[in-house]
Amino acid sequence: MVEKIDVITHKSRELIDITPHVEKIVEKTKIREGIVILYVPHTTAALIINEGADPSVRDDILNTLSYLIPRNKDYKHLEGNADAHIQSSIVGCEKTIFIENGTMLLGRWQAIFFAEFDGPRQREVYIKIVETSKH
Ligand code: ZN
Repeated sequence: MVEKIDVITHKSRELIDITPHVEKIVEKTKIREGIVILYVPHTTAALIINEGADPSVRDDILNTLSYLIPRNKDYKHLEGNADAHIQSSIVGCEKTIFIENGTMLLGRWQAIFFAEFDGPRQREVYIKIVETSKH
């Protein structure tokens, strides 16, 4: 079964830390060894794993993406959000994380972010947890 995490975004562009939601779902399964697969079913959003401690890193990531792929350019897409589609394509819509001893093997400073590039919107993240071995 695929579970869903609901994400409500409040800004046009933002990174939302969803690590606690994912941890809760991992704990609930009681799986000791496995993998977490996260997938965003949207064309103007993405998933990023990066530093969660210093919020200025989030700003730098978003600002740099905006600088590299600006909002207004001679895009063909008439909806006005071509930049968000391109940023979503480059950043990517899926992540895989290992579970060992019942916890996700994230680096000490890593957090999982939902990346909104064209909000505010009601979004969701699909999550599937697969057990890879039983003790
Ligand atoms: Zn569009």
